[in-house]
Amino acid sequence: MAETKTVHSALVTYTSMISLLTLCPPFVILLWYTMVHADGSVLKTYEYLKQNGLEGLKNIWPMPTPTAWKIIACFGAFEAFLQLVLPGKRFEGPVSPNGNVPIYKANGLQAYAVTLITYLSLWWFGIFNPAIVYDHLGEIYSALVVGSFVFCIFLYIKGHLAPSSSDSGSSGNVIIDFYWGMELYPRIGKHFDIKVFTNCRFGMMSWAVLAVTYCIKQYELYGKVSDSMLVNTALMLVYITKFFLWESGYWCTMDIAHDRAGFYICWGCLVWVPSIYTSPGMYLVNHPVNLGTQLALSILIAGLLCIYINYDCDRQRQEFRRTNGKCTIWGKAPSKIVAQYRTTKGETKNSLLLTSGWWGLSRHFHYVPEILAAFFWTVPALFNHFLPYFYVVFLTILLFDRAKRDDDRCSSKYGKYWKMYCDKVPYRIIPGIY
Ligand code: NDP
Repeated sequence: MAETKTVHSALVTYTSMISLLTLCPPFVILLWYTMVHADGSVLKTYEYLKQNGLEGLKNIWPMPTPTAWKIIACFGAFEAFLQLVLPGKRFEGPVSPNGNVPIYKANGLQAYAVTLITYLSLWWFGIFNPAIVYDHLGEIYSALVVGSFVFCIFLYIKGHLAPSSSDSGSSGNVIIDFYWGMELYPRIGKHFDIKVFTNCRFGMMSWAVLAVTYCIKQYELYGKVSDSMLVNTALMLVYITKFFLWESGYWCTMDIAHDRAGFYICWGCLVWVPSIYTSPGMYLVNHPVNLGTQLALSILIAGLLCIYINYDCDRQRQEFRRTNGKCTIWGKAPSKIVAQYRTTKGETKNSLLLTSGWWGLSRHFHYVPEILAAFFWTVPALFNHFLPYFYVVFLTILLFDRAKRDDDRCSSKYGKYWKMYCDKVPYRIIPGIY
């Protein structure tokens, strides 16, 4: 019986991995098509596909063009260059399961500032018109879909032939290795960290660059930027600025410290972030809503508050860990659990779990303001179509799944100490409800 259950759950895992591998590319293209060419209406795209079937999908699928490849190559090369050459403080990541300590150069904020200043200057001085990026968006996504897939094959081969550290290994299954990845900290040479590039400098940076692009395209189309677009862009840029301000903190989170470099995380950051995460702004380009000052300001303030709370949750946890619990949380000494765990090498180590402040409300309270912030930068699109809200729905599913994955991981890492935390803080995400 137990064996049947294991076989069944393995099958479910493979099926969901394979469906994600095959369904994600068409989804990215259909989302772009619907936003840009079908008035944001899922129904219109559905009717079109119903009438034209697979042939219809083939007809609307944009082919990667030399312009698209050039834009991606210039952006990628520029970001890789900034990652390597800009100065930054040395940062030690958390101890890995195999006892390694990855070393980083914390220059994300500098790279972010240089990128936005360069992009806006190119536009201002008439050297490059960002509207071109919007005009070739379909081709760019199409090229990213293919290019990132090839990149994930490279990661898979590198994991087998030339892993960068001992935090690497095969599960014995090709699909799992490709999907979840093999290396935790793949590098090119000693200094070029691949996950910092894919997740932060390409993924998150492209989000900021595209947000600005959408504003400029709307300006080109209508001669002004609507207040809905301004609120959307301002909130997204504040969120991304917060991300780069705290980038070294991100290097201590699950994406970097626990998830290996494979299709799930790398393809996601290279394709899913530039397309899905930016989609509310993509919709607004040709749907300029006029909110009026009062409503626009109310949405802006609510969004800013959510971004601040999300930031403060991350800050509290990191400050608490950095000071070894010798800090104040909401004006008081923190309440904590000293948790023991064993590394894969068999060493026993201590770790602190914060049980007060935001981390005393629920075990993943920070996901609540994260989801609400996404809602507030989408709501300027009002409610004529569902599609702009796809990101909010996706993020909610992603974070609920992530909270469960993290709980399972922490439970197997900390055992009885995690149970003590769960007894003290019983709710997973929403206090009093879930
Ligand atoms: P977290 O910041 O939630 O970190 C999880 C880790 O923190 C756990 O694995 C555990 O690691 C440690 N931990 C758990 N509970 C405690 C505690 N009580 N005290 C101290 N340490 C604890 O990671 P996430 O990566 O999920 O989130 C980071 C940020 O990124 C958040 O702001 C989140 O909203 C955002 N995010 C955004 C996404 C998006 O797509 N927009 C996706 C995912 C995250 P250890 O092994 O060190 O104990």
